[in-house]
Amino acid sequence: MTATARKFVVGNWKMNGLAASLEEAAAVAAALAAEPAAARTALCPPATLVERMARRLEGSAVETGGQDCHRAASGAFTGDVSARMLKDAGAGLVILGHSERREGHNESDADVAAKVEAALAAGLEPIVCVGESLEEREAGRAAAVVRGQIEGSLPGALKGRAFAVAYEPIWAIGSGLTPTLAEIEDIHAEIRRTLDARFPGQPAPILYGGSVKPANAAEILAAAEVGGALVGGASLLAKDFLAIVRAA
Ligand code: PEP
Repeated sequence: MTATARKFVVGNWKMNGLAASLEEAAAVAAALAAEPAAARTALCPPATLVERMARRLEGSAVETGGQDCHRAASGAFTGDVSARMLKDAGAGLVILGHSERREGHNESDADVAAKVEAALAAGLEPIVCVGESLEEREAGRAAAVVRGQIEGSLPGALKGRAFAVAYEPIWAIGSGLTPTLAEIEDIHAEIRRTLDARFPGQPAPILYGGSVKPANAAEILAAAEVGGALVGGASLLAKDFLAIVRAA
């Protein structure tokens, strides 16, 4: 990706947000209508809010996405949500393989790859998360772990399709800790090499995620091969999220 490519800033509300929280999303859309930003912008609320958020943001500069989907299109999977359901509710993209899914729901690379295929079949753009644990980083294995996740979680079906990768070191998520810029650039370069080998000529954006805040967004977003940001906590308030979007 060239330094001038449009950045992609995505908010992940996780299991936060009730109907009243849609005012925050609407405030982001209103601010971007009044003063457009350079970055492509999306918010991913919990499944219960996808349809209402998509309606509220219709025609605005803010896209709506899901946070996970089932690998099957439909069936006996109580409590789960399919990619087709997200699409039907108005989502255009979906976060897959977030570390909170990989760890809390035992999702393997193969599970994530199957979900990516389901998302593509439903017409959703996947954002596939990868990232090492603190233990893996301290053992000098961060690049190898991330390379393995990319190889295992990105199916060949992504060839020619729009998608993004989010590098989210697990130890940086919600902790206030971030890697150094050099560490971010090292892993992003590794991801770019792996993507170029698997999907040549297809410059998917590589987002950084993990404690991105208004105060550190500009320098992280300016780092080499950082194509945008996946933002958790700081995406819940319009003022913080907008500051990050405007830093991109
Ligand atoms: C995330 O969970 O995707 C994330 C990046 O969270 P936070 O910004 O809160 O670290």
